Amino acid sequence: MADYVNTFMARLQAKNPGETEFHQAVQEVVESLALVLDRHTEYRSAKILERMVEPERLVIFRVPWMDDQGEIQINRGFRIEMNSAIGPYKGGLRFHPSVNLGILKFLAFEQVFKNSLTTLPMGGAKGGSDFDPKGKSNNEVMRFCQSFMTELFRHIGPDTDVPAGDIGVGGREIGFLFGQYKRLCNEFTGVLTGKGLNWGGSLIRPEATGYGCVYFASEMLATRGETLKGKVCLVSGSGNVSQYTIEKILQLGGKVVTVSDSDGYIYDEEGIDSKKLEFIMELKNVKRGRIKTYAEKYKTAVYSQVDRSKNYNPLWDLKADCAFPSATQNEINARDAQNLLKNGVYVVAEGANMPTHYDGVKLFLDAKILYAPGKAANAGGVAVSGLEMAQNSMRLPWTKEEVDNRLSIIMKSIHATCVECADRFGTPGNYVNGANIGGFLKVADAMMDQGLV
Ligand code: NAP
Repeated sequence: MADYVNTFMARLQAKNPGETEFHQAVQEVVESLALVLDRHTEYRSAKILERMVEPERLVIFRVPWMDDQGEIQINRGFRIEMNSAIGPYKGGLRFHPSVNLGILKFLAFEQVFKNSLTTLPMGGAKGGSDFDPKGKSNNEVMRFCQSFMTELFRHIGPDTDVPAGDIGVGGREIGFLFGQYKRLCNEFTGVLTGKGLNWGGSLIRPEATGYGCVYFASEMLATRGETLKGKVCLVSGSGNVSQYTIEKILQLGGKVVTVSDSDGYIYDEEGIDSKKLEFIMELKNVKRGRIKTYAEKYKTAVYSQVDRSKNYNPLWDLKADCAFPSATQNEINARDAQNLLKNGVYVVAEGANMPTHYDGVKLFLDAKILYAPGKAANAGGVAVSGLEMAQNSMRLPWTKEEVDNRLSIIMKSIHATCVECADRFGTPGNYVNGANIGGFLKVADAMMDQGLV
């Protein structure tokens, strides 16, 4: 089987040169699936995995727009429609200067497995642009979003492909994108999720990824008869996922001591309480400021600027029980993983997508801690997006309690699938194998049923 994995990866790398994040995401999945392909040779002969790593459709387009000084700017737009075997394409849009084809392909590939795990009928996709909303005026962001949608609209639709937010794409951007789609198509449909509450959005959607991640961590702890109460938690990032991760940890009695952005991190030994969280939300969502302002307001907190000469992130070198990486991919390298283990962390639930480098994942698995990969732990966001689609189709909104209850049931079910699949394939407690196998089987069976398409 090692031969199969090596040959598969060598072909993938030769065909997709330079797409390192995509290679990394596929490598992890292929290693888990070697266990399945050994037992189920029918998937191998139907070349299911070979088909799954090839996007069904890939759209790359020019996004010209004019800045406030009247200067013309040109960005690149992408939409990767990876797999539609179990439902319309579904996945977020990321606006960040680091966006490139390899990053979006890794995200679209992960999304296929994640969406499958939610139990809802959603295929996998991802998209975005190298546009940086940071430091842009509202008008510039609007002009960019309108130009982006002027091409994207012809590739998406409520039964075809339903984008959502991701890094750099929050409620403001979804609003501008939706407005332009509606104008171009003359249709009010659920073509995007993460919409505003009074124009088709779902209650609990902003909270869903963070809340879901904490529900998943609680499920893992329950397997050892424990809860989050009194646990010291490290959280990275200060965006959508981080904010609601912190909120739910506080509700369940945990203590959060860190928060960060791309410039640096805050260590607040006293803990970030709900008042301080309110300050972070206002700072990040309304004022669009930097996290260092937190330490200016709360004198007990210490701010440390990112030091790029260091080969580790000091945020992960603090005494704690749990870690919730919620910023971006590869934010935990092998040294960071070692530091986390050394400091007593035994629960890692990934709010971000692929935040742990492959070598770090291996360390967590070897140490047999409760480690939940992003495709399982952060699936709550897309799950509630699926619930938003259902409400849009019915033209009926559900209450906050109804959506939160469904989210919690879905997270429990994803946890149960991971545990069951890891057990069934001889690796109990390995949530990486559990998530990869559980996500794969449903999509693979659908592809087998639908013939060679
Ligand atoms: P967001 O609201 O834009 O927040 C991102 C946060 O991460 C910000 O604090 C940002 O700091 C920080 N960050 C971004 N890039 C970074 C980098 N290269 N280095 C250090 N810090 C960085 O985005 P989000 O929606 O919370 O997404 C965070 C992660 O969760 C991503 O991996 C995303 O794919 C994943 N995710 C999101 C959802 C969702 O529903 N939103 C669902 C599933 C998974 P700055 O402000 O300085 O950039």
